[in-house]
Amino acid sequence: MGHAEKKQKNPLTILRIAVPVPLYSLFDYLPPKSDGAIDSGSCELQPGIRIRIPFGRSDHIGVLVEVCKNSVKPQYRLKEAIEILDQQPVISHDIFQLSRFAATYYHYPLGEVINSALPPLLRQGKEADYKNINHWKLTLTGLKVDIDELKQAPQQKIFLKLFQKHKQGLSAPQLSEVTQSWRRIINIFINNRWLEACKAPTVASSPKTKKFKESLLELNQNQQQAVQSVTESLSKFQTFLLDGVTGSGKTEVYFRIIEAVIQKNRQAMVLVPEIGLTPQLVERFKARFSVPLVVVHSEISNRERLNAWLQTKDGTAAIVIGTRSALFLPLHAPGVFIIDEEHDISFKQQEGFRYHARDVAVMRASQANVPIILGSATPSLESLRNVFLGRYQSLKLTKRAGSAQKPTIKLLDIRNRAMESNLSLSLLKAIRHHLEAGNQVLLFLNRRGYAPSVICHTCGWVAECRRCDATMTFHQNRLKLCCHHCGSQHRMPTNCPKCQETKLISRGYGTERVEQILKQHFPDYGIERIDRDSTSRKGAMEQCLKNIHEGHSQLLVGTQMLAKGHHFPNVTLVGIIDADQGLFGVDFRASERMAQLIIQVTGRAGREEKPGEVLIQTHHPDHPLLQALIQQGYHEFSKLVMQERFTAELPPYCSMALLRAEATNSKLPSLFLEQATELIDSSEHQNILIFGPVPAPMERRAGRFRAQLILQSVERVDLHRLLKIWIPKLEKLKTARKVRWSLDVDPMDMI
Ligand code: ADP
Ligand code: ZN
Ligand code: ZN
Repeated sequence: MGHAEKKQKNPLTILRIAVPVPLYSLFDYLPPKSDGAIDSGSCELQPGIRIRIPFGRSDHIGVLVEVCKNSVKPQYRLKEAIEILDQQPVISHDIFQLSRFAATYYHYPLGEVINSALPPLLRQGKEADYKNINHWKLTLTGLKVDIDELKQAPQQKIFLKLFQKHKQGLSAPQLSEVTQSWRRIINIFINNRWLEACKAPTVASSPKTKKFKESLLELNQNQQQAVQSVTESLSKFQTFLLDGVTGSGKTEVYFRIIEAVIQKNRQAMVLVPEIGLTPQLVERFKARFSVPLVVVHSEISNRERLNAWLQTKDGTAAIVIGTRSALFLPLHAPGVFIIDEEHDISFKQQEGFRYHARDVAVMRASQANVPIILGSATPSLESLRNVFLGRYQSLKLTKRAGSAQKPTIKLLDIRNRAMESNLSLSLLKAIRHHLEAGNQVLLFLNRRGYAPSVICHTCGWVAECRRCDATMTFHQNRLKLCCHHCGSQHRMPTNCPKCQETKLISRGYGTERVEQILKQHFPDYGIERIDRDSTSRKGAMEQCLKNIHEGHSQLLVGTQMLAKGHHFPNVTLVGIIDADQGLFGVDFRASERMAQLIIQVTGRAGREEKPGEVLIQTHHPDHPLLQALIQQGYHEFSKLVMQERFTAELPPYCSMALLRAEATNSKLPSLFLEQATELIDSSEHQNILIFGPVPAPMERRAGRFRAQLILQSVERVDLHRLLKIWIPKLEKLKTARKVRWSLDVDPMDMI
C-alpha cells in the first residue's frame, strides 16, 4: 500500500506533547517531515517517547502523550516536530499514570512533572542506553580453567572465583567494588577468551540461588507479626504504618519483607530522608543481600543516575535505595515500597514541583497493587490519623530489639540556674561523669554556626541580612557573617559599620560555639562537630563517624544531622541543649517537629548493653506538651497535639493549600493574591476557608517581598474542586507575570 493513499485516509497525525514549561496545557505538533520512521505508519509513535520540538525561540525536548487526529489549533498554525529521539518509550505506562496523578493532585504542569521523572541526561536528549556499563560471563573455556593455575596472580584468582560463583555474569559496578583495577583484569580474561560480554540477568530471569544471607537474629513476637502481616498480602495494595521505637528492629523487618519480595522475583524500592542515607545503612543492605542494588541520592553523577534508571527499568536492580527523587524511577516489577522515617520533611520537595514523596509513593503502590510500608518511631500526625480512619494498618514494635534498654529521660529546669555559657552546671557534671566512665556523650543543638546574631555593644547596631528579614549568623571558623535564609555572606567586620567602635559582641549559641565551650571544659577528650558546615567537604562526614566509632573522639555535638540513621553504641548520655525552640514556633507544626527531633536524638543513646540517659535543658519544664512527651512518650504527646489541631481545624483535620507570591516590589505580591481571591466565587465554594492575603512570616527573603494566601477545607475534594478551576485562571491575571507565584498543596513549611 502506497503511503500517499494512506495519508489521504488519515489526513492529519497530531502529536500531543508534554513540554517542560510552566504552562498547564499540552502542545500539538505535526510529525517531523523527513523522518523515515514516521512514513511507515504511526505504530512507532508510542506515548512516552521523547520528541525534539521547536518552542518559542529555541527548541525543547517533550514527551509524547498521545497521537490524535484533531487539534484545537488550525492546521496552518501547527509546527512540525524536529526529531523523534526514542524507539522505545522512556516514560512507561505506570510512570505516566503516576505523573498524571501527581500533576492533578499538586496542580502542577504535566510537562514539568514528567520532565522531573526523567534523569537529567535524558532531559538533555542523551540516548537511553548504558554506556561504560557492561556485563560479562565465563565462556566455556573460562569455565574449565583450573583456579590453581592462577597461583601466581592472586587478583585474577579472586575474579575467576567470583565469575565461577556468578554463572549469570557480573557487571561493571559490581566488579568495581572488588578493586579499582578491575578493567585490567577483565581485559586479560577477555584476551584469554575466558569471558564474553552478555546481557545482564533481570530480576525475573535470575536463578533461584541464594540471594541473601540468613539472618542470625530470631525475630521477636512484634517483629514476626509485622513481617507476617505484610508478607501475607504481597500481591495487593495496603499501606502499613510500622510504628516502632528507635532500635526496635524496623530495619530487620524491612529486610525480611524484601527477602520475600525478591523470592517472588520482584523489586523493592526503599526511600529514606536526605540525611538518613548513611554509608552505614547502605552497608547493612549490602551485607545482607547479594542481589544487585542501586543507590540514588543527590551526590551521584548524571551518568550514574542514568545507569540506575536503566537498571531499575530493565530489572537488573532488585533493590533501589534512594532519597525523594528516586520515587520516580521506573520499575520493571515493583514488589514493595518502603518509606523509612516517613515523618521526615525532606520527603516534601520545597520548590518547583512541590510533591510529597511519601504520599505519591502511596499512590504508586496502589497503582502497582503492592504493599507499602511507612516506618517511623515518631509517625507524622497525618499518618496516625490515617491509621485512626482505617486507611492504614498499624504494625507496632513496642520494645527495643535484643538486649538494649530504653534510656531514662529527665528535664533539666534551667530557670535561674548557674550556667556556663548555655550549659547548665548539672549538664556539665553529667557529661564529666559519663566521660570518666569511658563512654561517649552526644550534645544536640539545632543551630549551626557560632552565634545567631551579632550586635554592637556601643550603639546597638544589629548585623542583619540586607536581603532578608533576618539576622546574620556569625561563623567564627571562617570569620564570616552568613544569612541562613538566602546564603549571602561577607567578612565579619572588625568595627561597627554604624559607630566605628570595636565592641561587637555575638549573642546566642550555635554548634561552633558549643564545641569551643566543650574544648575549654574537657581539653583531654576528642570532640567531633557534625553539621552542614563541618561535613560539606567530601569524605568529612565519614571521617567524623570513623573517629567516633573507633573511639578517638568521646564528645559529639551536632544538629539534626546527628539525629537519624546513626548507631553510636558507646553513647550513654544525650544532652539536648535547647528544647524550647519548638514550643513557641510560628509554624503550627513546630511542636510536632520538636518532639520528633527529641525522640530521634534520644534514640541514639544506649543502643547496646549500656543503659542510656537523656537530659533536656528547658526554661519551660511545666509545659504540658513537653511533660507529656517526657512522661508518657510520643504517642501521648501526639494525642494532645491532635486535640489542638482538631480544635483549631488544622491539618490533619483539614486539607490545606498555600498560594505564595513574591516580587522585588513590596506591593505586587499582595495585589496579585487579592486579584486571585476575587476570582473565587464564594457561593460556589462555601466549604472553603480563605485566610489572607497576608505577608509571609518572613516577609522579605533574598531581596523579595513575600505574601501568602491559605485555603482550607474539611473535605479534600472541596479544596481540589476549587483548585482545579481556579489555578489555570491565575495564569491569565496581568499581575501574574509580574510576580513569582506558586501553589503548595499540603504545605509542610509555612515560613
Ligand atoms: P530500628 O531500625 O528500629 O532503629 P534496627 O533494625 O536498626 O532498629 O535494630 C536495632 C538493633 O537491634 C540492631 O543492632 C539490630 O541488629 C538489632 N536487632 C534487630 N532485631 C533483633 C532481634 N530480633 N533480636 C536481636 N537483635 C535484634
Ligand atoms: Zn556601633
Ligand atoms: Zn538573607
